[in-house]
Amino acid sequence: MPQAKPILKVAVPTPLRRSFDYLVGQTAIPPIGARVRVPFGRQQLVGVVIDHVTESTTPANKLKPILETIDAQPLLPSHLFKLLLWAADYYQHPIGDVFNTCLPGLLNKGEPAVLEPEYYWQLTEKGEQAFDKLSNNAVKQHKILNWALQHQGIISPAHLNELELIPSELKPLTEKGWFIKKEVELNAKPYTQSNQPLTLNPEQQSAVSAMQQSIGQFHGFLLDGVTGSGKTEVYLQLIEQVLIKKQQVLVLVPEIGLTPQTVQRFRRRFNCDIAMLHSGLTDRQRLNIWLKTKQGLTSIVIGTRSALFTPFSNLGLIVVDEEHDVSYKQQDGFRYSARDLAILRARDEQAPIVLGSATPSMESMHNVNQGKLTHLTLRKRAADAKPPHIKVLDIRQRHLENGLSQALLDNMKRHLENGNQCLVFLNRRGFAPSLMCHNCGWIADCQRCDKHMTLHLQQKRLHCHHCDKQVFMPKKCPECGEPELFPIGLGTERLEQALIKAFPNKKVVRIDRDSTRRKQAMQDYVTAIKNNEVDILVGTQMLAKGHHFPNLTMVAVVDIDGCLFSADFRATERTAQLLTQVAGRAGRADKPGEVVIQTHHPEHPLLLNLFTQDYQSLSQQILSERQAGQLPPYTSMALFRAEASTLQYPMEFLNEVAKQLGQVPGLDCFGPFPAPMAKRAGKMRAQLLCQAEQRGLIQRAVKPVISIIEQLPSARKVRWSIDIDPQDPF
Ligand code: ADP
Ligand code: ZN
Ligand code: ZN
Repeated sequence: MPQAKPILKVAVPTPLRRSFDYLVGQTAIPPIGARVRVPFGRQQLVGVVIDHVTESTTPANKLKPILETIDAQPLLPSHLFKLLLWAADYYQHPIGDVFNTCLPGLLNKGEPAVLEPEYYWQLTEKGEQAFDKLSNNAVKQHKILNWALQHQGIISPAHLNELELIPSELKPLTEKGWFIKKEVELNAKPYTQSNQPLTLNPEQQSAVSAMQQSIGQFHGFLLDGVTGSGKTEVYLQLIEQVLIKKQQVLVLVPEIGLTPQTVQRFRRRFNCDIAMLHSGLTDRQRLNIWLKTKQGLTSIVIGTRSALFTPFSNLGLIVVDEEHDVSYKQQDGFRYSARDLAILRARDEQAPIVLGSATPSMESMHNVNQGKLTHLTLRKRAADAKPPHIKVLDIRQRHLENGLSQALLDNMKRHLENGNQCLVFLNRRGFAPSLMCHNCGWIADCQRCDKHMTLHLQQKRLHCHHCDKQVFMPKKCPECGEPELFPIGLGTERLEQALIKAFPNKKVVRIDRDSTRRKQAMQDYVTAIKNNEVDILVGTQMLAKGHHFPNLTMVAVVDIDGCLFSADFRATERTAQLLTQVAGRAGRADKPGEVVIQTHHPEHPLLLNLFTQDYQSLSQQILSERQAGQLPPYTSMALFRAEASTLQYPMEFLNEVAKQLGQVPGLDCFGPFPAPMAKRAGKMRAQLLCQAEQRGLIQRAVKPVISIIEQLPSARKVRWSIDIDPQDPF
């Protein structure tokens, strides 16, 4: 007797936290984990089969057959498939949207999961000869040939991205006979040998040895190494051991555009297929990397948060660099933490995981204290660089010119006169945080948010950094009509101007989100700084991350006071991390570094503690405060957020949510309250904070009521979300 066809539970991309039942119909039975095309209302959607069942709660006459089975085989390896199901459950996020977020765009559209051929270009002898005769005007050709010469005569598909080329631009060069176009053979390039590893210092050596023993099994490590201590070198040498065992490696980084140096270091070291997942890829390139990695054809994948969802055939190691970075937590939609899920993934796939940072998160320090992560420390800077000398500059009653004290300028002058570079740090872009009328006191506020608008003088615009609204800078006051408008406060643009004035003979560059919009901009700045074409760098936290500038000997922190007082319980941790990271840019090579911090609060405990002790003792102190205050990581949190055109609706909805959750022992609900930024992008926002002593209690409490919450009539009047382990209270 033929077996009855199963009923399919399908995850469909909708905002509902449930799957939908379908019949198999005429097509082949799709296995669990395969994509199917289904009718959904009047639409046709691509979903993923998450289960086969024999009965459905949907009445039989309402069940519709699927339209098509897209994959004959499960799309994802079973570990990863289960991880996504687990994550949907843990983060209380609609399963269909979890797949939609985690799969490459083309797969969500129903494209077949097959590799398309890729091509590379091989330099010919004729091309090599042409290089010498090339005129100086042929800039692009020069760049291409030069690249090929430096990369064994090859322009690979990955190189195309780095050169910002599209294949058709190479066509004229193949027609001239300078290059031959060849199809990339899909064989895993066997790992041969690495180029010039450095001789590890004893601390690095013992870290590598400890981790090496865990290859082939799950083990979590926290590599806690001061800035410049050679963490990257430790990753590289551990990775080599994994490659020798023919396993693959996943490296997560906070922001790939900011770390071209790291990527180059990997490329130079390993002669194997390294895939870089970044926002500049086409959908097809992204899918190809995904498929190649799944088939074991790439050895190393480097990418940001979402690279965590790349399928591997034989994952042997996960590295999470700068593990404390907030960008690992997605702040909208599927609000997952890539760092936390990476630990689970490593466990499921029996691989070691290394979380690396100079300023580990409290969560990871807590895990160390609990014995869940092994703590490996690098206390000394590699290559004998000394830690920077730190000076807190009391600016009370001192004259400030555009936020700069004379003492600070004098200090900079000393370094500049010795031919060194200075970094001036201010975490606020734009010219000034607001614009005011001298006559009537009018302030340029955003109409849609509870915030001032930032003045961008170069673009002659006011820009709200919270909702992105932009307007032209008014010529006169909209309130009283007088023309005397003046900027209040300090942004990087203003600081740049002030420094150009103070040091007219020095080259000043500003590095922030505005000045690095162009694709290669960051890379160009980094090169210029390394080539000593720049004397003073002004910038935001973009400069705090991971860069290594050998001639930079002084870091000036212009305004830290705003960070010292905040309602967010994580503010101390974040400020300590930021200051430590920025300070770490100073004196990374053989030249000693100096850090000067301007403040009106030289007695503030954070400043005192940070510089009389190290980050590690400070973090133990922060942890005991968290424990006393019953805060994460000692408790778990979930944050319900809701917004609508008036505050009444979100408050009503969240009150009902609180009522639904009210009865659970051990779970405390606070609120609802208006959000710290109650109005944003024209919406009124409220929050309900849930806190529990045990992890898991939140899931046990929320899970049974989430579908009731979804169905509440008041839910229809708001946009709402739930954020498990929220990182940002706003
Ligand atoms: P981190 O990742 O901790 O900031 P890096 O790995 O970038 O540190 O190392 C900082 C600098 O020290 C780099 O220029 C690197 O080449 C150098 N370095 C690292 N390890 C060694 C070593 N064992 N011997 C010599 N130089 C080293
Ligand atoms: Zn006015
Ligand atoms: Zn706004």
